[in-house]
Amino acid sequence: MLAPQDLRPLEHLTPHDLVAYFHCPHEMELGRAAREARRSGASVDACTPPGVVPLRHSPMFSPPLHDIEVVPGRLDLGPEDVLVYEDDGEDDLPVLFPPERVRKDPRFTSGPGTLHDAELGFAGRPDLVIARPHGTLVPLEYKSTHLFLGYHEAHGRIFDTVQAIAECRLVEAAFGVRPPYALILYGDRGGDGEREGFVKIPYTDAGAHWLRAALLQIRADRTRAPVPMERNCAGCEPNGEGRCPFAAARYEGPHHRPGWHAMPREPALLGRTVK
Ligand code: SF4
Repeated sequence: MLAPQDLRPLEHLTPHDLVAYFHCPHEMELGRAAREARRSGASVDACTPPGVVPLRHSPMFSPPLHDIEVVPGRLDLGPEDVLVYEDDGEDDLPVLFPPERVRKDPRFTSGPGTLHDAELGFAGRPDLVIARPHGTLVPLEYKSTHLFLGYHEAHGRIFDTVQAIAECRLVEAAFGVRPPYALILYGDRGGDGEREGFVKIPYTDAGAHWLRAALLQIRADRTRAPVPMERNCAGCEPNGEGRCPFAAARYEGPHHRPGWHAMPREPALLGRTVK
């Protein structure tokens, strides 16, 4: 006899959910419960049992980290590069294109412009999508912090990669063109661009498979246990709102501890490719 099929609709997930789950599944779950409460107007409990045993690290396995390019300095755009998509909900994005090279795709200019992937039940908005020569599309995510190198690089680069893979998939699903890579641009707004740079992350078959497996894992996890570590909790928004009983550190803002900005840079890591 055939086993009964699970006919529940896919849990809606976003690139932000992936990144949050990779930090801490409970952080993602608290975010989901808050969104659901706002949507329904009723209070919604997180599914995490109160007596859950905290985890020591994320249960999600790492995305592939091969051939990532870390490039300090300005992102050079070519004369044929054109802006075809912008998240209009973000008001602090840099102006990278003159008006004559802004040709937004009209499919995404009415309404919120969210890119949907019906197959994976996944949706989100990259900051920008750039059309480069020969029909290449590249999503770009902007971060106002400086390009982080050295001590925090190994940790932070994983999150860049999670976001890059997710946004490449959304562009592929919404535009019908598979991006070869994504860019994470660090604008170093606080340092007047002195330590700006970008990370170029390839979108490979291995990355696409990783994404499918990660979405399956999140949907199957009905515990969403906390990972109370200082570096997670110090930048965790639900912690900032006093909603996590497992927090291991006081909330210190979205970009982690102020000390990060004073971290020494490691010249040996500049401009190299992560293999
Ligand atoms: S405060 Fe820490 S343990 Fe709690 S949800 Fe946030 S990251 Fe997870």
